[in-house]
Amino acid sequence: MDAFKRNLEKLAELAIRVGLNLEKGQEVIATAPIEAVDFVRLLAEKAYREGASLFTVIYGDQELARKRLALAPEEGLDKAPAWLYEGMARAFREGAARLAVSGSDPKALEGLPPEKVGRAQKANARAYKPALEAITEFVTNWTIVPFAHPGWARAVFPGLPEEEAVRRLWEAIFQATRADQEDPIAAWEAHNRALHEKVAYLNARRFHALHFKGPGTDLVVGLAEGHLWQGGATPTKGGRLCNPNLPTEEVFTAPHRERVEGVVRASRPLALGGTLVEGIFARFERGFAVEVRAEKGEEVLRRLLDTDEGARRLGEVALVPADNPIAKTGLVFFDTLFDENAASHIAFGQAYQENLEGRPSGEAFRKRGGNESLVHVDWMIGSEEMDVDGLHEDGTRVPLMRRGRWVV
Ligand code: ZN
Ligand code: ZN
Repeated sequence: MDAFKRNLEKLAELAIRVGLNLEKGQEVIATAPIEAVDFVRLLAEKAYREGASLFTVIYGDQELARKRLALAPEEGLDKAPAWLYEGMARAFREGAARLAVSGSDPKALEGLPPEKVGRAQKANARAYKPALEAITEFVTNWTIVPFAHPGWARAVFPGLPEEEAVRRLWEAIFQATRADQEDPIAAWEAHNRALHEKVAYLNARRFHALHFKGPGTDLVVGLAEGHLWQGGATPTKGGRLCNPNLPTEEVFTAPHRERVEGVVRASRPLALGGTLVEGIFARFERGFAVEVRAEKGEEVLRRLLDTDEGARRLGEVALVPADNPIAKTGLVFFDTLFDENAASHIAFGQAYQENLEGRPSGEAFRKRGGNESLVHVDWMIGSEEMDVDGLHEDGTRVPLMRRGRWVV
């Protein structure tokens, strides 16, 4: 077997054994782009070998979506397959595992009227809610595994012939997910252990704030009251550990929406709706980004920040060491799962409930400093020149990272 095939097999095995941590006899519900049919068959084979009882796949087709948006009457765009999502939600609650194969053409809907695209997406998001809730509540084990979609490969490697671009993207995926290592399963066990150690350390320290210092950056990010750090393998409600994201390198928590001060410069470009936003600079006062600039793509960023008041406040802060396998690829992936995991990052917009003790909602969520917004956009600030300190309320500080690497 050649190296490519071997790595693909290892990735499929990782998705089933580490990503899902599939239980014997469990049902699997997969979603995937239609282009991934061969990869899905490989995943199904691995799942059955691990004892799956039934592997069902629901294929998405961006070409079909395009045809609908171009040809269907506008009122028709409010329709979404609620019956399908309700069925998925029921299956998850009854114990089926959820396997999402990611990878799409970021330009698939280019040239279509944005209001039609928005209308269809909104209807779909509303109908999908029961399934999404089951997933975010971790009623079952789930994972997202990447597939080198040709459209995605074209975006990452413009100018290369498609076949070459796809091959290069697969290689980057193997590197980022550790599928190219001798024993990827053992590598992930060690990786999860390291992430959980950091989470336990940070949760025990209960820092009041983090201080980021690097070229163009001098930023204090206050942490929400009763914040919780998360990262790596996550237990389901029933106590089964799964890895929702392949890859993942971050430990992350909720900032306090009103306690962010100072200036910060992006360390890597941000892919936003198919465009690259480069050289982002922001200045925060009492949690609000009073000044935001970008050397390139500022318009796209500005439109995002105009969504609502919370879009100019932070909903996530994440620590990622600079010497990780994704950063080492040196690529911009145009995919959040990869790009945010390349470096320490902050996110404009919505905070996660699971980053606050007791998962408060509504007024309680806001009172503790949780930020609310319709958007959540991660942008990378970490680098090999970034130092990070944990700050206690009395002003004492503990070095956490030096030159982008953990020192605890
Ligand atoms: Zn993150
Ligand atoms: Zn995020």
